[in-house]
Amino acid sequence: MSIIEVYCQCGNKLARYDKRKKGFLMKMYLDCILEDPNKIFLNKKFNCHDEIYCPQCKKRVASIKMIHGRLSAKINHGVVNKIST
Ligand SMILES: [Zn+2]
Repeated sequence: MSIIEVYCQCGNKLARYDKRKKGFLMKMYLDCILEDPNKIFLNKKFNCHDEIYCPQCKKRVASIKMIHGRLSAKINHGVVNKIST
């Protein structure tokens, strides 16, 4: 497991995330997000398919999905820098 930093392509830091599995970052389980500097992920009431935008460049960085029964932010790879562990 590793702690990763997730950045938007505009340079804005989106999250610090506790990544439990090796491989390409596809999604972030909301309950494993350690830091949410823009307050876009945590302490919100999400519905499935809600979309999350970078507050700096206004691009869509993720959409909310239920994955394995947990609310998750599915990463939009056109906008978020690719991370592999
Ligand atoms: Zn951005």
